[in-house]
Amino acid sequence: MTNAPVTEIPYCDFCGSDEPRWRYSVEDYTALVTNTHVITNDGDWAACNACYELIEANDRANLAKRHPYATDSYGEQLVRRTHDGFFAHKLPRRAYKLQN
Ligand SMILES: [Zn+2]
Repeated sequence: MTNAPVTEIPYCDFCGSDEPRWRYSVEDYTALVTNTHVITNDGDWAACNACYELIEANDRANLAKRHPYATDSYGEQLVRRTHDGFFAHKLPRRAYKLQN
């Protein structure tokens, strides 16, 4: 969720891994996650290899479970809503492989 150059995305945006390997182009957007929590997306998302596989398979349930906040069903629900924004706004082009 940053406009930093490709090599400067240090973490997977889906699970927090410090080994991001893919970059998804995502348009900027604002989404309501709860009645009081708004997410403003600014730029691309990074994914590690494991999250990339789940994104490409559209396996959103298991993708959400990898997130550190998904410790209970409520946390998982918030992560799913956050990811819904990603899936709704990611551009149709394929992910870029990062050079690291
Ligand atoms: Zn990941």
